[in-house]
Amino acid sequence: MLPQHLTLFDPFEHMRFGRQICFLCGTNITEDQEVTVFPEWLMEEYAFAEKALRLLDQSVVQFKDLKIPCCRRCQEQYLQPLEEQVQEAQKKGVAGLRALDEKLLFQWMGKMFYGTLITELIREQDPLIKPEYAVSEQPKMLLKFQAFFKVLQSLRVPMVFPDFIPSSIFVVDVDASAEPERFEYRDELSTMMFSLRMDNTLIICCLLDNGMIKQAMRRVWTEVEPRQLQPIQAAEFSARVFYAGYLLNVIPDYLLRTVKPQDEYVVMDSLIDDVTNVIFNPWQNSSYAKLLSMAWANWGISQEQILQNPQEPLSMLFTPQGEFIEFPQIPEQEK
Ligand SMILES: [Zn+2]
Repeated sequence: MLPQHLTLFDPFEHMRFGRQICFLCGTNITEDQEVTVFPEWLMEEYAFAEKALRLLDQSVVQFKDLKIPCCRRCQEQYLQPLEEQVQEAQKKGVAGLRALDEKLLFQWMGKMFYGTLITELIREQDPLIKPEYAVSEQPKMLLKFQAFFKVLQSLRVPMVFPDFIPSSIFVVDVDASAEPERFEYRDELSTMMFSLRMDNTLIICCLLDNGMIKQAMRRVWTEVEPRQLQPIQAAEFSARVFYAGYLLNVIPDYLLRTVKPQDEYVVMDSLIDDVTNVIFNPWQNSSYAKLLSMAWANWGISQEQILQNPQEPLSMLFTPQGEFIEFPQIPEQEK
């Protein structure tokens, strides 16, 4: 028998989601053992606890009421220490969060994403709630979430990733001094994209791509990373990452190496079928422009304006010659 702290829990095997099951270790618990999906300190700092969040079944909840079942042991031993580390780093802004071990940032973002996801899954088990788009009825998505949870368990199980990191994470510096909100959040279950902005720090991440998006975007990222972006530029960068998430065509899977009882940690290997599969579907300017126009909705820039030159979508980050734009000129709104 393996020690419990080295044993992985697979809630997807028999769809074991419920108010009496710890999301992280699978222990049976009483319903009062739960944690908020968004950390208390973050909700307090950015005053969004009472703000509304729309779920897939169209019901609206307040952020503070979004909670997941979690046993006391997992709360005290695994989640709290992580929150303390991230909170400490967050005080130092962009530099602090960039200095943090990427694995921790993955776990921190991952827990919020997963928390939102299992809230949907638990609700779907209620026969009175019939969402239009039931996650539990999407076999391909469930496989993806199952793979994701294997690596997210590094929150609890000491786990080594020998030659990869499960996600692509970008910590972007943005000049948000004139922005109306201090905090922004966005997630997309199907592509596993998640982004948060806390004042000047924007974190965008694809939670399950083994860093492939970051690799594909390295040229752009080299230019963006050392600079402070204007909000319109940050929105474009974010649109590029989200679009890459749509194009991503492979799903990493993970395989546990054999664990021996005396081991102190487990080793997770990754498998990517990139021999028979294309990693990214081809980039299409028209679909990218559609996504970018949504990201630029605040500036009222339409899809047509973006595609004035159909071969070269409008950019606030780079000139057609590929040079970084230090002072972007925001186009006039169409009447
Ligand atoms: Zn637990």
